[in-house]
Amino acid sequence: MAELKDYNSPILPTWCPGCGDFAIWSALKQALVAEGFGPKDICLCFDIGCNGNMADKINAYAFKGLHGRVIPTASGIHLANKGLPVIAIAGDGGTFDEGMQHFVHAIRSNYNVTFIVHNNCDFGLTTGQATPTTWEGQKMNSAPHGVVEKRLNPIKLALSLGADFVARGFTGNLQQLVKLLQAGIRHNGFSYVDILQHCPTYNHFQDHIWLSERVYDIETKPDYKNDRDYAYSISEISEDGVATGILFQNEASTSYLDKLSYRSAYQTSLKDEVKNYEINESLKMFR
Ligand code: SF4
Repeated sequence: MAELKDYNSPILPTWCPGCGDFAIWSALKQALVAEGFGPKDICLCFDIGCNGNMADKINAYAFKGLHGRVIPTASGIHLANKGLPVIAIAGDGGTFDEGMQHFVHAIRSNYNVTFIVHNNCDFGLTTGQATPTTWEGQKMNSAPHGVVEKRLNPIKLALSLGADFVARGFTGNLQQLVKLLQAGIRHNGFSYVDILQHCPTYNHFQDHIWLSERVYDIETKPDYKNDRDYAYSISEISEDGVATGILFQNEASTSYLDKLSYRSAYQTSLKDEVKNYEINESLKMFR
């Protein structure tokens, strides 16, 4: 039986005081323990950014790759070893700037990967540049006169691409965050968990207090229904409120590997099958 202490790393976090990364770090470990996974039962894939600094602060199998490329890494690991739960973790900058195309195709393909975005509306590690989720007009270090581009709504994007699991959490509600991550891990297919995260150092427009005063659980809405169009209609972050929870889930989702009918009789993973082939000659080309 896995315990929280199994995930302890001797390397302590270096995030700024008050950073939302602490809550996501804690929620992820709690969700994994609640799902019965020990550090050797899962694979965590990290992107570059303050979020990626979690890679050695949690004792588990982890992979940290190039900026914006965490989804292909995670998808590859999943496709090679279908029995291994894979969780990809990135920021809003890496996901919706450098890695946008991977987000689009992962949703289309519906790989069975849980994708967590630390959405703090800025590039924190490189000192407060704007990302696609930064508010229009907001002054940032890369836009001293204010951001001129329209703000991207990742929830609308995911829903319009046909994502079968779309959730939004908030680092000020740890209990809900754990439940969302558990649900995302259990979902069969690509699960997107967008986490509104406080960055006290560079985000002074959508801060912890602003969010705390506006977040609500979608299931408390009298007209709530688990419906793609309904989720789309309440997905804006606005003065009037910020919906959190599982915004939409298709519980009959069929993942990429499930759709490969010609592999339905296979009991093995690609990682086993590749051993049946002699690849040393091919590898010589890369030496
Ligand atoms: Fe957190 Fe922002 Fe500091 Fe990065 S820069 S560690 S996101 S508070």
